[in-house]
Amino acid sequence: MSSDRIYNFSSGPSMLPLPVLEQAAAEMLNYRGSGMSVMEMSHRGKDYLAIFEETKADLKRILQVPDTHEILFMQGGATLQFSAVPLNLIGKTGKADYAVTGNFSNLAMEEAGKYGEVNIACSSAESKHTFIPAQDSIKLSPDASYFYYCSNNTIYGTEWKYTPETGDVPLVCDMSSNILSARVDVSKYGLIYAGVQKNMAPAGMAVVIINKAMAGAELPITPKLLSYKLMIDSDSMNNTPPCYTIYMLGLVLKWLDSQGGVEGIEKIKAVKAKILYDVLDNSSMFIGCAEKASRSDMNVTFRTADEALDKKFVSEAKKAGFETLAGHRITGGMRASIYNAMPVEGVEKLAVFMREFEAANC
Ligand code: PMP
Repeated sequence: MSSDRIYNFSSGPSMLPLPVLEQAAAEMLNYRGSGMSVMEMSHRGKDYLAIFEETKADLKRILQVPDTHEILFMQGGATLQFSAVPLNLIGKTGKADYAVTGNFSNLAMEEAGKYGEVNIACSSAESKHTFIPAQDSIKLSPDASYFYYCSNNTIYGTEWKYTPETGDVPLVCDMSSNILSARVDVSKYGLIYAGVQKNMAPAGMAVVIINKAMAGAELPITPKLLSYKLMIDSDSMNNTPPCYTIYMLGLVLKWLDSQGGVEGIEKIKAVKAKILYDVLDNSSMFIGCAEKASRSDMNVTFRTADEALDKKFVSEAKKAGFETLAGHRITGGMRASIYNAMPVEGVEKLAVFMREFEAANC
């Protein structure tokens, strides 16, 4: 890695692959002979449309998105999808099921409650979200318009290891913090969305993948730009899209190909997560926050028995070149976010640092 770059364990925005940043820098002033930066191009011009189409086609190929589904690029980040999902989808029966396994699914459920009746199908709130509920504990409503869950809980460091079975009720999933880290059968989902600032691109957009059959039944109050139908019909270009973010996503997808695609990344992420969980499992100082069976491969949450020691760890880690290891303000403790762009080497060095810190402070 470039010698003046640190290892950034931020939960998002987070590290981008170095070759992507280098290519963006090289193309910044004059994109491939156009005489302009991508930031300066008309979104309806030939050069930009080529970037847009290639990015969308690469994402469709890499995630194996079937022709029944459409990829949308929508502004407003993941949080705006907390509103867009019920505005577009809850009208079918007026009801929706939510799995509450963390802060973001809880916020999404509260938002949906403005537009229809929400049922908590399962929850991990009783344990402060340290686990993912098992399939047989999920209480489904047969007349729900959709079943909503968040596949990776960024704050708590838990991850669904299975796809919930919901019969005829369409699955809706917030994959903001684990999209592109493992293979997913997109055909099983009515809708997948992800804020891009973790595994995909700089902040400023959400990618939405929707089964086209689900669009077109939005509530009449739905703002125009939140209508999935309008976004499908206008190919995400009803107004100016987040042009530069889409260009960066395109570069990240090319980089992902160089890593062996999602399959290749899946293997690398398993190696990275194991390195840190092995440290936790063999430590008498660090305590993993999530239950073992529910641990996230993207956000490793841990703490010591002493808040002052947690603070000392975060501050000494920072001095040693490991940035943003403090846990979320809701949970405290520590969190190492090891998204796709975090090199194995960064995780190995953090593991060494953790062992040395333990030896020096026990
Ligand atoms: N969902 C998940 C799983 C997240 O991790 C986050 C942000 N960290 C959000 C939703 C909210 O994303 P945004 O800030 O893009 O609205």
